[in-house]
Amino acid sequence: MGRKLWLAKDIETDYNRQHMEKVIIIGTGCAGLTAAIYTARANLNPLVLTGIMPGGLLTTTSIVENFPGFPVGVDGYELMTRMQQQAEKFGARIKFATVEEANLTQSPLTLTVDGEKVQAQAIIIASGAGHRHLGLDSEAKLEKKGVTYCATCDGALPMFRNQPVVVVGGGDSACEEAMYLTRFASEVSLIHRRDTLRASKIMADRALNNPKIKPVWDSVVTEVLDVAQDKVTGVRLQNVKTKATQVLPCAGVFMAIGHVPNTQVFKGQVDMDENGYILAKRGTETSVPGVFVAGDCCDHVYRQAITAAGMGCSAAIDAERYLARLNQ
Ligand code: NAP
Repeated sequence: MGRKLWLAKDIETDYNRQHMEKVIIIGTGCAGLTAAIYTARANLNPLVLTGIMPGGLLTTTSIVENFPGFPVGVDGYELMTRMQQQAEKFGARIKFATVEEANLTQSPLTLTVDGEKVQAQAIIIASGAGHRHLGLDSEAKLEKKGVTYCATCDGALPMFRNQPVVVVGGGDSACEEAMYLTRFASEVSLIHRRDTLRASKIMADRALNNPKIKPVWDSVVTEVLDVAQDKVTGVRLQNVKTKATQVLPCAGVFMAIGHVPNTQVFKGQVDMDENGYILAKRGTETSVPGVFVAGDCCDHVYRQAITAAGMGCSAAIDAERYLARLNQ
């Protein structure tokens, strides 16, 4: 299950223990790739590390309708591919690699990347966010067996075709996923823990006016069925107001309950809030000189493709000015 990853060109990079990068960008979502475009155009020869999801979460979205410059919308995957091409055109070196360890508390800034130590004068963290899980035991056991976190990736699978499915959540993602799934499923139940959607009005209206989408209000999933059969056959729901329970038969459960920042590897290295979002001050500075931050790993308020891109630009400019001061 899952859409094939967009593999960045795994170029040979010259980083090693002796070599000091000017700037390393961690992440290739909107924030990371915009930072890559700007730092590359500033002749900083950035090394850009993709992490496990090249292109970031936007590659799992269908049509992006609100990114300026695309009046008829643009496929999320295509948008990210174009950003990568634009960054590479100016000399960004994009490497399919993951940061395993960070030592940012002493100079030089050091990362362990796929087992190798890499040093840099400046680092831009744009590591994005991942899907939040409900945390149920049955959810974990049935992941990839009917439980999924991406309708665009998995919605067209035969196991969901002409079957009832459920989407959990009440935000823009849940509405978008539910609408996408109406192409394949016989019916989509939208399970939300309150009785009003958090989604933007345009998305909420579209979802609620779709005859194939049935909202189930004030309800939470307490169990995904059926672990004994090793596949999804339904969900057990509880109404949070009446406490009544019911079983809703379905072939698939699409979780769309928000995101958690991908910042685990930087814990104890840069200041974060209690939810793991990196704290940015004076633009994109972190608590560590030379380390800048952009996008969903530090933003739990706006979380849009365009705001992430804007922060990526700011981080690149901040890093460029920092390096100019450092090397003058
Ligand atoms: P979100 O706005 O944080 O919504 C998460 C939803 O999941 C909320 O309705 C929340 O309920 C629910 N939820 C959270 N934890 C839960 C739990 N443990 N159990 C049950 N329900 C739970 O996340 P999102 O929808 O992924 O959107 C993230 C950002 O991306 C937003 O800024 C959104 O505007 C943006 N986005 C935009 C588009 C678009 O414009 N095309 C598409 C997708 C996302 P409550 O409402 O009760 O908190």
